[in-house]
Amino acid sequence: MRFAFTPQQEAFRGEVNDFLRGALPAGWEGADNAIDDESYEFGRQFLKKLAPKHWIAPAWPKQYGGLEMDVWDQVIFNECMGYARAPIVNTAAVGYLGPTIILYGTEEQKRQHLPGITAGDVVWCQGYSEPNSGSDLASLQTRAVQDGDDFIINGQKIWTSQAHYADWMFVLARTDPEAPKHRGISYFLVDMKTPGITVRPLINMAGGEGFNEVFFENVRVPRSGLLGELNRGWYIATTTLDFERSSIGGTSQALRSLEDLTRFAKTERQAGAGTRIWDRPAVRHAIADLWIDLEMARLLSYRVVSMQARGLVPNYEASIIKVFNSEYVQRQARVGIRIMGLYGGLWGEGPWAKLHGRFSKSYVTSVGGAIAGGTSEIQRNIIAQRGLGLPRQ
Ligand SMILES: Cc1cc2nc3c(=O)[nH]c(=O)nc-3n(C[C@H](O)[C@H](O)[C@H](O)COP(=O)(O)OP(=O)(O)OC[C@H]3O[C@@H](n4cnc5c(N)ncnc54)[C@H](O)[C@@H]3O)c2cc1C
Repeated sequence: MRFAFTPQQEAFRGEVNDFLRGALPAGWEGADNAIDDESYEFGRQFLKKLAPKHWIAPAWPKQYGGLEMDVWDQVIFNECMGYARAPIVNTAAVGYLGPTIILYGTEEQKRQHLPGITAGDVVWCQGYSEPNSGSDLASLQTRAVQDGDDFIINGQKIWTSQAHYADWMFVLARTDPEAPKHRGISYFLVDMKTPGITVRPLINMAGGEGFNEVFFENVRVPRSGLLGELNRGWYIATTTLDFERSSIGGTSQALRSLEDLTRFAKTERQAGAGTRIWDRPAVRHAIADLWIDLEMARLLSYRVVSMQARGLVPNYEASIIKVFNSEYVQRQARVGIRIMGLYGGLWGEGPWAKLHGRFSKSYVTSVGGAIAGGTSEIQRNIIAQRGLGLPRQ
């Protein structure tokens, strides 16, 4: 079977690429994987360039700042962004909270929250995980107690990506402690400026301040902050997770890295030998495997897209992509640093770090990719139970 995009779709690809060439600095090689204030600010400025074209969330309804873009055009758009290594800020809002509000929000909530996201003004973070609730998320202990028309939230979240920059957070909290654990959770939209919220950054092993601990002490949230029905938040939360795991068009960044690595192996001489790195059969085999796997990742992603194009919400199919892509990035990083030999351990822009140290950095940061949004083990459980129909252990 041969997949091809239509001439109109290819024209759109050209338009996006032209825009990106103008919007990103000349010779742009991408921001460092580890987030710092400077790269984050650059990302927010970049959002402001996307906003007038309605390209922050192009799939969303026009009345909320989207373009109602066809899902295949979104793939093209995401592929161009990934390949250009364009900064991606506000993924939580654009990728998964927004689509959840579109499905479950009241008209008032849609009007309150979606235009701020598509204008590039409001950034969100995801308050799911807690110190003792990650994979078993439904065991979460953060409490929300009704008080008149408001809810009062107390508890702690952890690993909250970008909470130190975010304006709002979507939070899961227990509203009925007597009910079975999945049936006593509600989904809240919380302004990060509300008194009682404290954010404490955590430094990851790449030296970046990507995620945080967030403490809630008597945080008052109005009823308008409740998304969907009281105590039905778990079912909304899992929809958000399906959107999170199915990131479409996500392989193009890996494609660019693999092109770089292949070029590097073909041109670089082995230290102390006259031959090229490429002359070693083991290197060629490892790179060939990466190309094959990358094509598989792309096709798995297109499978999910074709489901979305038919109005279906992917479930275990999204888990397949999540586990395959996140582990692929790890394999790619591993091959990359091995090929570079002792230089493979260096990162940054120093004279000895190869390919901007991207592979050594990715070797470290890609560990988190296989944990965030549900670990690989959890994705495999979902695939086994919902995809293959195997019994629960
Ligand atoms: C880079 C990064 C960004 C993140 N961003 C966010 C964020 O923005 N918001 C947020 O809420 N959370 C975020 N997280 C947290 C993430 O969702 C959790 O780390 C993840 O769900 C795993 O939970 P845990 O860390 O508590 O590990 P645990 O659940 O304690 O798991 C520990 C180990 O046990 C295994 N395990 C657990 N249960 C099972 C099982 N039933 N079967 C087989 N193996 C099992 C796991 O696979 C894992 O290897 C982020 C994490 C990372 C790494």
